Amino acid sequence: MEYILIHHSQLDALEKLAVTTLPNESCAILLGKKSKTKSIVQHILPMNNSYHSSIEFNIDSDDLYEAYNKARRMNLDILAIFHSHPAKPIPSTKDKIFMLINPIIWLIYSTSSHTFKAFIIDKEDEIKEINLLSIKD
Ligand SMILES: [Zn+2]
Repeated sequence: MEYILIHHSQLDALEKLAVTTLPNESCAILLGKKSKTKSIVQHILPMNNSYHSSIEFNIDSDDLYEAYNKARRMNLDILAIFHSHPAKPIPSTKDKIFMLINPIIWLIYSTSSHTFKAFIIDKEDEIKEINLLSIKD
């Protein structure tokens, strides 16, 4: 069973990012180390939502390129894409399309229910929820 491990302080930082970006959706790239089933978050790169929208997000290709460079310099993997929703923390129709293009973990935070959920696309192109384990710092 695949899962993502993240520290309480990192979840707090993502929640703060989501709340301070309201009314727009926030986004971030999560860096860390990945093994077969386990992804451990080690660093958060807050990203600019270039759409400045409350219902969708976009990361400019320049920002994405910079994130990949940072990951390489830090010798970390790009583990997950984080973004926030004003509604339920489940992938939207548009999210699902981009999940197929970026088949890494997608972490979503709801600014209404204050909950996180993590998803990934499996080999059959089906979206499945994965376990999110938060650990003390
Ligand atoms: Zn979304």
